[in-house]
Amino acid sequence: MIQQLFSNLDQLADEISAIRRDLHRHPELSFQETRTPRLIQEYYDMLDIPWRTVGGRGVVATLAGASPGRTIAVRADFDALPIQEETSHSFRSIVPGVMHACGHDGHTALVLGLAKALSNMRESLSGSIVFIHQHGEEVFPGGAVQMIEDGCLDGVDAIFGTHLENDLPVGTIGCREGYTLAAIDEFEIVVHGHGGHAMAPHQTKDALVAGAQLVCNLQHLVSRRVDPFEPAVVAIGSFHSGTAPNIVNGEARIVGEIRVFDKALRHKLRQMIEQVASATCSAIGATYTIDFTTGYPSLWNHPVETDEIRQAAGTFLEPHHVRTVKPVMAADDFAYYLERVPGSYFFTGSAKSEEETFPQHHPKYDIDERSLLVGAKVLGSTLLRSLGRAGTSQ
Ligand code: MN
Repeated sequence: MIQQLFSNLDQLADEISAIRRDLHRHPELSFQETRTPRLIQEYYDMLDIPWRTVGGRGVVATLAGASPGRTIAVRADFDALPIQEETSHSFRSIVPGVMHACGHDGHTALVLGLAKALSNMRESLSGSIVFIHQHGEEVFPGGAVQMIEDGCLDGVDAIFGTHLENDLPVGTIGCREGYTLAAIDEFEIVVHGHGGHAMAPHQTKDALVAGAQLVCNLQHLVSRRVDPFEPAVVAIGSFHSGTAPNIVNGEARIVGEIRVFDKALRHKLRQMIEQVASATCSAIGATYTIDFTTGYPSLWNHPVETDEIRQAAGTFLEPHHVRTVKPVMAADDFAYYLERVPGSYFFTGSAKSEEETFPQHHPKYDIDERSLLVGAKVLGSTLLRSLGRAGTSQ
């Protein structure tokens, strides 16, 4: 069965690349996608695989095998980023200021190709494969939340997904069990002081000074109050205060984020940030307000399903091309699916030559398109392997 799948996929290589390039030319921002879901729907119509709209903009298609069995899902995200593309490809984005700079065009193309490759194998399939095409991965609260609320995981026994990764060479994949991607939250602190003339500092409460101290004091949280064996990031990305040399400012605005794996530490860091804000502001007579935006949970790959990926990939990739990767502080709303059903998210190496390789979210970001077939084969053989497993893992 695997050989049949691989030979189907090999024949689809050009088609998968063409779909990726078409999506790349027409990127759509998170929660504004219309053309992309329509293209996906039309593709499933062409394959004669039933689909439904889920969570507003997502598309879920279900390929039912001839005999009953497990239900295994695969997820691909399809939104793009607010970046002006700087590549010289013939298929570069035609939408000003919007670009597929995270490989989601590739995720969608390889999963559509996989659906086509599996569609003429229905007779030999036991169980069902659910193709989850998700909108809005790049922006909180994340399309995954809407799709799960709308039932995309109903009846699903396990879920798999992959992200193209330019830190890994094409022809390799990276897996990891346990914590693999971080939880992320954002915060905004507004320092409220009392403005006035620079010549009379004693009549003011300088929000700029309190804010500057606060930015520095927050740097001590991870270095002094977090266990060195517990990964954590507290980053300030923006600080605004002030207009002129002779004006003391009554307000400062600080925006930052928290990234951690551990749930308890995620909660504790919020409290510690608030504590530092309170102490720093009161020392200068200022007050503050703080707002947290809850982002994605940390992504925890289930061991049994991660092993299924390794074993599936190991049947056709060299052992040293099936790598165990370190956790990274990036986040992905795939984490929500893994909180509800067992599964695993792996990385598909997509790096081009060294001069041509740029990281995700870069205006010159690009992939080696040979990675699309590798990703489709690993996902496809993992799905078949997981379908063939007796019973449910829940
Ligand atoms: Mn991404």
